[in-house]
Amino acid sequence: MSKLPIKNELGFFEIRLESIGGLGAHLAGKMLAEAGVLGLGLNGAHFSSYGSEKKGSPVKSFIRLGEREIRASNPVERPHVVGVFHEALFKTIDVANGLYPDSVMLVNTTKSPEEIKEKLNIQSGTIAVIDALNISVEERTRVNTAMLGALYRIAEFLDPEARKNVIRATFEEKYPHLVEANIRTFDRGYNEVVFKTFEAEDGMVTDFVRAKSSLGYETQPIGGVITNPGNSILKDLSASRQGFLPSYDKDKCINCAACDTACPDLCFVWKEEIDKKGRPQMVLQGIDYQYCKGCMKCVVVCPTDALSKTRETDGYADENRVPHNFVLASN
Ligand code: SF4
Ligand code: SF4
Repeated sequence: MSKLPIKNELGFFEIRLESIGGLGAHLAGKMLAEAGVLGLGLNGAHFSSYGSEKKGSPVKSFIRLGEREIRASNPVERPHVVGVFHEALFKTIDVANGLYPDSVMLVNTTKSPEEIKEKLNIQSGTIAVIDALNISVEERTRVNTAMLGALYRIAEFLDPEARKNVIRATFEEKYPHLVEANIRTFDRGYNEVVFKTFEAEDGMVTDFVRAKSSLGYETQPIGGVITNPGNSILKDLSASRQGFLPSYDKDKCINCAACDTACPDLCFVWKEEIDKKGRPQMVLQGIDYQYCKGCMKCVVVCPTDALSKTRETDGYADENRVPHNFVLASN
């Protein structure tokens, strides 16, 4: 009997993880492949693709398991399971691309499966949600361990007890104080994940069509042309934030500009106003969250607690953003 619940036409079970640098998706992918190879005696392959190795840049991690030799080394285009480690990726990446009608999509989110279905316009399949960020904050661990717990629940053929032993062995020698917190995080991911399966309405399932590259030999730009310049309109660092952003309380601010000096991305928006003595003074209006990567350097230097580290909720940044062109527009 096959150890794999489902296989593609080549005989492989395939998983794709969509993440950003710093959330540990590469390590989670490695652990999943290891679980199939060392735990179940399957053949397995794992690799990740990422650009510059820095926190916040998009990362994809691919896991392929099979009972026959694996010679394929191409990215997973048609995953049986997709794990989305950061919801903000929805803005820039088609995370649902290539899903089968009965694939499972796991998302690190506070939203319900119905809300995710609507947001991504998914026609059918199972949507699983887990608030991995909250678990990792409460347990003082990392998002990837909670996501791994949820992924084990989805890929039921993997043995969660074996994984817990590996977590134990990994941390026991160097960081023994982290063992129990990580086991708890894994268990919470496993137990708290919520699933909902949706049936496709008649005629709503479409065949997979591989996206064509928009740049071919006839359409590619001349060498040296930068098509996506780092200008202030296109640059958007919101997907780099890992669940937290600085919130601003104007009443506590003394306009000392320490935050502006510390911020690497010029997020602070100022405007000249007249103070109580009738003198002109630069007054901080707020933060342009489009450029904020959530590094919290500003929070550390603020002397009055006017800035505080806040869990980012859906829509907060858009509602509270003070865009740089606000000053120009209001003058
Ligand atoms: S560091 Fe704090 S008090 Fe100073 S300008 Fe920035 S927000 Fe205001
Ligand atoms: S967290 Fe603060 S310092 Fe860091 S990018 Fe955002 S506004 Fe700038």
